[in-house]
Amino acid sequence: MAKRLEGSVALVTGASSGIGEETARQLAAEGAAVALLARRKDRLETLAVEIHAAGSRALALPTDITHQDEAVAAVDRTLAEFGRLDILVNNAGVMLNANILHADTTEWERMIDLNLKGLLYVTHAALPYLLKAAEDSPRKVTDVVNLSSVAGRRARLSAGVYNATKFGVVALTESLRQEVTARHVRVSVVEPGVVSTELDSHMKAENRAASMKPFQGITALEPQDIAEIIVFIVTRHWRSAINEVMVRPTEQS
Ligand code: NDP
Repeated sequence: MAKRLEGSVALVTGASSGIGEETARQLAAEGAAVALLARRKDRLETLAVEIHAAGSRALALPTDITHQDEAVAAVDRTLAEFGRLDILVNNAGVMLNANILHADTTEWERMIDLNLKGLLYVTHAALPYLLKAAEDSPRKVTDVVNLSSVAGRRARLSAGVYNATKFGVVALTESLRQEVTARHVRVSVVEPGVVSTELDSHMKAENRAASMKPFQGITALEPQDIAEIIVFIVTRHWRSAINEVMVRPTEQS
């Protein structure tokens, strides 16, 4: 049986770990060629080797997407290598929770630069190609999937700036959806609850303990739970656009 994404090309940001890594793996398993973006070259190359060994094409593109020139170069390399772009997964993100009072404001810059501006740079560079591919795709549609969070729908103590970026991702998703959906580029947002990844490991120890306390003792989601949802979104019939999915661990209140 033909794989569902045979002939498609996907670009995944934040593919060196967690949700992005597993999403790239699952898209490749469905037959897509995948461009892998993140800063850690070794992790991307290891994943590319694994995907090649499983019979799909992959391109490791070490990229800091907070630099617009690097984001543009990575999209251009993807086109040069694979000739088209059908699926963009804007997954790279960072969460550095802390109270506003006495905050290290460089952490705000990191979240805004990556979660919002990085996502915008990649989207801006990719959109012309997604629009073009939508016109000649046998699937009759192309996809942008943005990773927001439950934190993009519900603010909580000490997460204000992360909340602001993830609420922003929800807003950007809906606005872009209205801009391009009639031209057959679907734009979706996925809003996970707690997923077991490296995400919380970048916080300062004292902030991490406070931030993760409400989730102690619950069984978190795994990256494959989110990757499966992303694959589901991009494999729907062209007439069906899944605009938004929120998914929490069952035990997360
Ligand atoms: P990880 O920390 O495992 O993954 C984050 C990814 O972003 C890594 O691949 C990292 O790679 C990449 N990244 C970081 N900085 C940059 C940069 N400047 N340029 C390019 N890539 C970068 O976390 P998750 O997999 O959990 O996070 C993925 C997304 O899911 C994020 O947007 C997050 O906000 C969202 N999310 C996560 C939840 C969770 O509980 N885990 C819950 C809800 C949403 P590298 O360091 O190599 O650059």
